[in-house]
Amino acid sequence: KSGFMAIIGRPNVGKSTFMNNVIGQKIAIMSDKPQTTRNKIQGVYTQQDAQIIFIDTPGIHKPKHRLGDFMVKTAETTLNEVDAILFMIDAKEGYGKGDQYILDRLQNIKRPVFLIINKVDLIHPDDLFPLIELYRNKCKFEEIVPISALQGNNVNHLLDMLKQHL
Ligand code: GDP
Ligand code: MG
Repeated sequence: KSGFMAIIGRPNVGKSTFMNNVIGQKIAIMSDKPQTTRNKIQGVYTQQDAQIIFIDTPGIHKPKHRLGDFMVKTAETTLNEVDAILFMIDAKEGYGKGDQYILDRLQNIKRPVFLIINKVDLIHPDDLFPLIELYRNKCKFEEIVPISALQGNNVNHLLDMLKQHL
């Protein structure tokens, strides 16, 4: 089994940390692929029975300058083509405008979305449940998974879950 998954989230939520934790090996670049396609591939998670290709989706973040509808459309097209979307948030920062911007973009997307609540090592367990409730009311998520990308908490559980959606 193999498939593509997009990882999205505002800056500093821990996307790169997660990728570095998950990916043992950087993908060997296919040199015949155009630059744009290459840049989208961040890495590949490989097990005997499954392979998940993670892709980056610039354009889904709130742009600093107006990048125009083209970037937004490109991101939307990409998100509609993947097997699943990982929407990562920061448990410590909680919910903010940058997160809502992404939630709005996700309205047009018909793919399964996993909400990844990262940095749970920074919060008290009692603060997790209200955050889950808040997000549950905002979007229909396939699953809501708390992790610590930095410490590796629950990351294997998340990967097992993702494998079932390939
Ligand atoms: P990105 O912008 O979404 O790619 O975020 P980064 O992966 O660059 O992480 C931003 C900062 O958050 C870095 O200083 C990371 O070390 C930190 N960070 C990422 N994940 C965790 C986590 O699970 N726990 C804690 N405490 N810090 C984290
Ligand atoms: Mg990053």
